[in-house]
Amino acid sequence: MPRKVIIPTDVKDKLQQLTQLQNETQVLLLYQRNGNDCVVVSYFILGGNESTTQTHGNSNLAKLIKEFLSENPTYKFIAGHTHTESIVSNRESHYADHFSTGDERTYTRALQTDPEFIGAVITPTTIKLWAPDNPQLEFCPPHPKFVHEKIYEKIRDVARRKGLNAHEFNLGHFVSTPERRIIKEMPKPRPK
Ligand SMILES: [Zn+2]
Repeated sequence: MPRKVIIPTDVKDKLQQLTQLQNETQVLLLYQRNGNDCVVVSYFILGGNESTTQTHGNSNLAKLIKEFLSENPTYKFIAGHTHTESIVSNRESHYADHFSTGDERTYTRALQTDPEFIGAVITPTTIKLWAPDNPQLEFCPPHPKFVHEKIYEKIRDVARRKGLNAHEFNLGHFVSTPERRIIKEMPKPRPK
């Protein structure tokens, strides 16, 4: 029985807005598993395109997420990245609804250390999931605000104990600054 990934429509809209940015964006979709259902609750924007499967070893955000996940094992993540409008329209329309061979190579490697690994690519027109059980994708209405507040509170708590400032991070759903500005402030990703 394949897993079912359920993404709230407001998260889906925000993810697809990211495809309008100049550079490919990395995101972690945080989800909670309930039987076969993987219900996405929020997301983190990680920035550049260095690795689509790992939280970056050195950044404080990576530390924060790792700590959060280890303290809250009911949460897991889907490693996502965008194929931007400019890539899809200018170069390779193939990537409008396909993974690149590089994506698949990275995912295959990730699967060796995490059997539950799920990769995702977000394009201007679709979201595609990658995992051996071929998970289905469904959308649901936005979660009520308290769902986000609960996670945010946990994350703030981890940050506090680790001596990190939660406000310096791009906490996806919780970000009040427009994503466009945040992305601009991130280090330039390496060319593909
Ligand atoms: Zn890709």
